[in-house]
Amino acid sequence: MDKRSEQIIETIKNRVEGLNWEVEDQDIGLVHSVGDGIAFVKGLKDVLSGELLKFDSGLMGLAMNLENDQVGVVLLGNDAEIREKDKVYRTKHVVDTPVGDALIGRVVNALGIAIDGLDDIEDKVFKPIEVQAPKVMARQSVKEPLLTGWKIIDAMIPIGKGQRELIIGDRQTGKTSIAMNAILNQKGLGLTCVYVAIGQKASTIARVVEQFRISGALEYTTVVASPADDMASLQYIAPYTGCTIAEHWMNQGKDVLIVYDDLSKHAVAYRTISLLLRRPSGREAFPGDVFYLHSRLLERSAKLNDKHGGGSMTALPIIETQAGDISAYIPTNVISITDGQLFLNLDAFNSGIRPAVDSGLSVSRVGSAAQTQAMKHVSSSLKLELANYQDLLSFAQFSTDVDESTRRVLEHGSRLTELLKQDVNKPLSQDLIILSLFMNKYGFLDRLEVFEILPYESFMHDEMKRKYDDLIQEIKLEYQLGPSLISKITDAMEDIYTLYRGMYYET
Ligand code: ATP
Ligand code: MG
Repeated sequence: MDKRSEQIIETIKNRVEGLNWEVEDQDIGLVHSVGDGIAFVKGLKDVLSGELLKFDSGLMGLAMNLENDQVGVVLLGNDAEIREKDKVYRTKHVVDTPVGDALIGRVVNALGIAIDGLDDIEDKVFKPIEVQAPKVMARQSVKEPLLTGWKIIDAMIPIGKGQRELIIGDRQTGKTSIAMNAILNQKGLGLTCVYVAIGQKASTIARVVEQFRISGALEYTTVVASPADDMASLQYIAPYTGCTIAEHWMNQGKDVLIVYDDLSKHAVAYRTISLLLRRPSGREAFPGDVFYLHSRLLERSAKLNDKHGGGSMTALPIIETQAGDISAYIPTNVISITDGQLFLNLDAFNSGIRPAVDSGLSVSRVGSAAQTQAMKHVSSSLKLELANYQDLLSFAQFSTDVDESTRRVLEHGSRLTELLKQDVNKPLSQDLIILSLFMNKYGFLDRLEVFEILPYESFMHDEMKRKYDDLIQEIKLEYQLGPSLISKITDAMEDIYTLYRGMYYET
């Protein structure tokens, strides 16, 4: 080291040692070092974990590391505004967010501030973004269905109000679309929705919001957005903000659906903060408490008992996998926290099976208790039929002549796979899903060629609505399929099929 460098180092050392870190007031500290969105502050006493600290420049920070002689603060703004020895003040408050009906139809950032260019949010009540989850005694088991409008999900992997169902899959496999459809499907069903976007491109978020707007879903939805160019600290708090907004409605006795899109990026934001705070890293460089990050968030979803208003918060967290690896650290964590998962298969998605929900790897651990009798009746054999088909499919690839029964299973399986396909932004109501699956259960599907199935399905729905509305009303009455209703629907389907064939041959 040359003399000049030594001199510089010596001078800095002397200056730093000469600094007086003692401040009279315990509620005021001084910035010791700052950089990368993190400040270390000395001189504060009794700071709360997660407390908001205010800097001289007006910037706020979150106290995350409480050490003997200093506090590690994550800044909620640009660190260029902060200098060493700036004063830091305790606020004795944790981060909070506005809650209430004024937020419906709005897009807010991670701090609950409107970013949609409309007026400020009025009539504000504030709630802390981190609170304890409802206790066991305040809850009841899941018993009402939460309909997503996807045939394959509502039939085979049903979700109940208050459940946490993970949506997991590689990038570009339709994860966001699954959740979006579920929100669109709540139109007229009385649910309020919260969509939390974490670490996504601002353009992607804008597209989702626009879709909500055109399909009328924004009338009952709040969007909390923390795009990829937001600081890690804001991305870290965004889901808790969304959760508090949703929780407020749940505590008022309402049913809420919340989507966290996605928690992989949330974990990465938290990892960034932790590493900058010099916390020790563990598996895949995530800090040891990363499990707690998501468990304390998802535990807040619940179906409350009647004494507590009977409200519910259903959560659809999303996790992105790398090359379908569901045994990586964050995926395994979140799978173990949730009550089931919808696994989206990239190969299936690319081969045109959309939604690409893998019926073998997807489960719902509590939702079937909430499924209606009619839906159970028409979907009871689906899982087995698809499993048989998948087994034989791989086997049949190696031989050209297969026996008669194998051929029948293969033909039926390909038709059923076709029937379960569904386009984005086209949620179906429960009665129409029941009618579609009725075609499978009662043999109508096998009379159609594969390419006819989806056009025929919408033809059948239209005819049912036009001519047999009394039957639809009868289904909707209790969602019970008794023998007489089954035979009436079969007759109606027979007529519709005849009509379709007649039209088909005429043209
Ligand atoms: P990312 O990893 O980028 O977040 P993602 O997994 O959320 O992607 P989406 O954005 O939902 O995937 O979907 C990717 C593309 O596939 C979109 O263009 C979407 O319109 C299309 N897509 C998704 N689901 C379907 C579907 N059921 N039918 C047809 N197209 C679909
Ligand atoms: Mg997405």
